[in-house]
Parts: sequence; C-alpha cells; structure tokens
Amino acid sequence: MNLAAELSKARQIAEFALRTKTQSSKDVAQFGLKSALANQILRKYSRNKKLKRVGSMKLTVPSQSIKREGNELRVACLGLSLPMTFRKDFTKVNQIELDKEFAYVAVTIPEPETKEVSNWIGVDRNATGHVAVVANPKSGKVWKLGKLAQHIHKKYSAIRKVLQRAGKYRKVKAIRNRESKIIRDINHKISKKIVDIAERMNSGIKLEKLNGIRRNRHHSRNFNATLHSWSFHQLERFLQYKAKMRGIPLAYVEPRNTSQECSPCGSVGTREGKKFVCESNECKHVDHADANAGFNIALRPPLVESIGQLHADRDVCKGSSDTPKGATL
Ligand SMILES: [Zn+2]
Repeated sequence: MNLAAELSKARQIAEFALRTKTQSSKDVAQFGLKSALANQILRKYSRNKKLKRVGSMKLTVPSQSIKREGNELRVACLGLSLPMTFRKDFTKVNQIELDKEFAYVAVTIPEPETKEVSNWIGVDRNATGHVAVVANPKSGKVWKLGKLAQHIHKKYSAIRKVLQRAGKYRKVKAIRNRESKIIRDINHKISKKIVDIAERMNSGIKLEKLNGIRRNRHHSRNFNATLHSWSFHQLERFLQYKAKMRGIPLAYVEPRNTSQECSPCGSVGTREGKKFVCESNECKHVDHADANAGFNIALRPPLVESIGQLHADRDVCKGSSDTPKGATL
C-alpha cells in the first residue's frame, strides 16, 4: 500500500468537499479512495462550516473497517497490518488515524471499579506560583507542581502585549494557540503526576468544588483570565478521566476558608504571601500557605454528591476534544 498516494487522494477529496459541500461518496468516487475512508473526510469537511482550508491531512479509518487478528490490527481496505505495541485489554477499536509517520489508535478501555482507599490527598489549585500543590496528611508530604507554567505565561503575555500594540492580531492569535498547547501539555503531565501519587499512596483525590474563578480576583473578560479559568477546568477534566481509568476515587469538598483555616487545629490564621501563621496561641502552627490549603482540602469530608460524579462545565467543555471517549494510545 502506498500511504502517501492515499493521503494525496484524501486531500483532493477534502478540497473538493470544501468547495462543493457534498456529502455523497459517489461524488468523489473519481478520486479512487475507498468509500469508507472518503466518507470520513466528507463528514469532516462538508459539514463543518468553520473549516476554511485543508490543514494537515490524516486518513481516518472507522471502527467497522478495522479487524483484530491476534496481535495485529487489520485494515483490509488499505491492505494494512499494524502490530499492537500498546495495552491489549481494550474492548473496542474506535478508529485509527493515519498520517505519513504515525498511526493513532483510539480504543475503549473498560472502566475499572473504583478502589476503596484508606487515605486522601488534597489538591490546591489556587496555589501561588504553581499550578497545583498536593498534600498528603498521612505522611505530611507536599508536592508543588507546575512552577514552569507561570514563567511560560509571563513570557507569552509579554510577547502578546508587544504584538497587540503593533496591531499584529493574527500573530497574537498564533501566540495564544501556542500558549494553550503548552499549558495543555503541562496539565496532562501534572494530572498524571497527581494520579501517580494517589496510586502510590493508595489514596483518593480531593479537590475544592470551585467554579473556576480565582479567589481574590474579579472575573474579567481578558484573555489572561479566560486562559486561567480554561486551564483550571482542563486540569480538572484530565484528573477526572485519568483517575477514572485507574479506579482512583475523586471527590469534591466545600471550598470555604481552605486557605484561612489552620490544618492541624482548625483555627483561623493569617496568610502573608506564601506563609500561613495560625493565630491560636496554643497552636502557632506555621506552614507554606498552599500546603496548608492542600492539607485542609485532604482532611475535609467529601461533599456527598461529589464522589464519582462527573462535573463538566458546559461553557468550558464546548467543542473540546480533551476528554477522550476512549484513550488514544
Ligand atoms: Zn493552628
């Protein structure tokens, strides 16, 4: 099979579909691509009004055209065999995307049962200088994750400002996209790390039930605020599906005063920058403010309705493909 030739046919069909908006594979039979594959391209390029041009081209092989034979996936219409070098406990192959170099195999993995856990770790997502601070009250250990994100944000924010002033709006948009991609990658890594920690400690994960609005900050319409809120929800979605795939329970807690209360004694304390000081004379506990918040989150009782619940913010999730239906391996 000559994949480059098939991809070139696919591109011609995509361009044709953009021009004519046809949805019938008969109209594109002339290009010589198997109709099962042509249909996928038509679906994408004829129906989506926002698509104005053909970008990078992939062939999408639908589920019906894929057969599993031993340790191989067979795509008969392309005469293609793919060795399975990934986990094999999937129930279904949803689709395979092919480009010149890679095959992207999307599979459905059976959901494991949620584990019984003896401990909970708390994740503070309003940390100063980090994307998240994780605290394990059982061991007293604290993990500060995603310090880099702030530097990246500052850097890109400054570049955007310069471009904006110069009126280079297309470049501003490109920089926004680049930053979003980097943040997404960071969120993937951080959520994986948090789920790894939970698994190692045989713990569940507790988060504050928040609406994505940063404490002590007014909601604003500017891009920085939007990005922050979007990133915040994205981390939550990544955590949800990664925890779910490994059977780790995830629960929400009441967010009130998680940064004002002292985690060992419950009294009110003061926060000065990164430092938390308990005001109770018997306690006088001093801690890193975000770690203290993390401990509080871990120790709070879960909100009853929250265990196992999939909390999805519609506005933020709209049109997003971040939460995979299966997992792309
Ligand atoms: Zn105290």
